[in-house]
Amino acid sequence: MILKDKVEFIIKELNNLYPDAQCSLTYKEPYELLIATRLSAQCTDERVNKVTPALFERYSSLEAFANADFDELCTYIHSCGFFRGKAKSIIEMSRQILKDYEGKVPDSIEELTKLSGIGRKTANLICGDIYGKPAIIADTHCIRLSNRLGLVKNSDNPVTVEKRLREIIPDKYQTKFCHNLVHHGRAVCMSRSPACERCTLNTVCTFSKQSEKQRNRKTADKK
Ligand code: SF4
Repeated sequence: MILKDKVEFIIKELNNLYPDAQCSLTYKEPYELLIATRLSAQCTDERVNKVTPALFERYSSLEAFANADFDELCTYIHSCGFFRGKAKSIIEMSRQILKDYEGKVPDSIEELTKLSGIGRKTANLICGDIYGKPAIIADTHCIRLSNRLGLVKNSDNPVTVEKRLREIIPDKYQTKFCHNLVHHGRAVCMSRSPACERCTLNTVCTFSKQSEKQRNRKTADKK
């Protein structure tokens, strides 16, 4: 199967499996997604979603975050881990948005990555989910599945994965494709034990085919 057909098959199948897939962080305002995503580093979305309701109630605007008392902010986000660094960048990025962007979360990767603590993964998420722009969110699921499926060749570098997927996934599917990968990575293609036998992508998946070949070789060796 040529790559174009393989990509089309994967996009279609994932859309069938996860028609409603979206970012699992809860937010109302664009800046809230930015902050929730910052909190999700080295933490689960589930944990972040437990923390943000009280956090966004206490700090109900960008101005409130910009003027937050550091120690008090830490008490709200403590359970997300690495809370000091996160608190520092949340205050700093809020000030930057107010000062440099008139209080509006920027809409380009170039500008978003100028904000304190914001990398390409978060910048892509904001561009895709808030502004509807083509975006590749190269998180751990995206990187793992792209490699296993054979869309990316042996790379755990997020920038390389992003670049490759931008080349082969049509613009209009990119953001949803990444959300689908997160869902599939949680439900079927888990990190330690991918359930290839029940995965509907196994006919096109490089990892699955290689595993099958290895099993066949071992069976032949035993005979
Ligand atoms: S076939 Fe296996 S490795 Fe490939 S995507 Fe499915 S679960 Fe993951």
